[in-house]
Amino acid sequence: MKKILVLHTGGTIAMQENEHGAVQPNVINPLYSTIESLSTIASVIVDDYLNLPSPHMTPSLMIDLARRLKERVKEDQLDGIVVTHGTDTLEETAYLLDLILDWDIPVIITGAMRSSNELGADGPHNLIASVRVAASDDAKGKGVLVVLNDEIHTAKNVTKTHSSNIATFQSPQYGPIGIVTKRGVFFHHTLSKRDCHPVTQLTKKVALLKTYAGMDDTIIEAVAATHIDGLVIEAFGQGNVPPTIMPALKTLIARNIPVVLVSRCFNGVVQDTYAYEGGGRTLKEIGVIFTNGLNGQKARLKLMAVLEQSADHSIIQELFYK
Ligand code: ASP
Repeated sequence: MKKILVLHTGGTIAMQENEHGAVQPNVINPLYSTIESLSTIASVIVDDYLNLPSPHMTPSLMIDLARRLKERVKEDQLDGIVVTHGTDTLEETAYLLDLILDWDIPVIITGAMRSSNELGADGPHNLIASVRVAASDDAKGKGVLVVLNDEIHTAKNVTKTHSSNIATFQSPQYGPIGIVTKRGVFFHHTLSKRDCHPVTQLTKKVALLKTYAGMDDTIIEAVAATHIDGLVIEAFGQGNVPPTIMPALKTLIARNIPVVLVSRCFNGVVQDTYAYEGGGRTLKEIGVIFTNGLNGQKARLKLMAVLEQSADHSIIQELFYK
């Protein structure tokens, strides 16, 4: 039998609804009731590592989590890992782990949209499906995977798309890479490459701002005054911003602060298509760094990781085209 670590970090999957309909953390993790079913799939060991709502998660807690997983792999000779997590920031933890864990052992992140005592609670099912994926030989070497609602997604492409629906996790543009059925775990896509940055700390301050019609430069100047090390801009469409923010972006780049561009659209990539002031072409000319389909929250984590390795904007650009 495969040896699988189930490590809990909290989230709705570990919470309960009270008589007034408020959902809150539990002292005893309700997922303990699934242990019997899990033991038919794998030899499972449990680590009650954290019990946090995921809006309380931070990049430094994610780094600590990666360190804990490395220690457990070394001590316990694991075949796979399942991390339970709140769904709000699940994609960020999954993506950062995917960037820094450079091994082939399956790491599956799961959560739930309904707390443990709500009708139709999805936590136990998601946990069981995740252990099945973690124990699957086919999950090896695919990086960190997100398993909910019987779908397997890559950490890079998955995002939370609905505030409450259990089918919330989707991979826009690409779709899931596999499914979990009663018969087994089936992968139907393969990752073309992995993007690893095995950093052990994240010390840089990176902000994320979304563009909107009529945005002026006051917000960028206010953020720049807080001594940031990098800025991610969620631009319109193919990668265009209001002309009013161009001077502030130029000033940041002149101070050697990288400005990284993502699109606020769900699908597609940013490109230097438009030549009007604020268009992608003019952003490229002033030295803005273009990404390759990452969303804003993930580009921010990648920039934090990349800045631990280099401050050279042309190297950062190359790393963001991957
Ligand atoms: N707010 C909760 C959290 O992220 C939502 C969830 O777990 O699904 O912890």
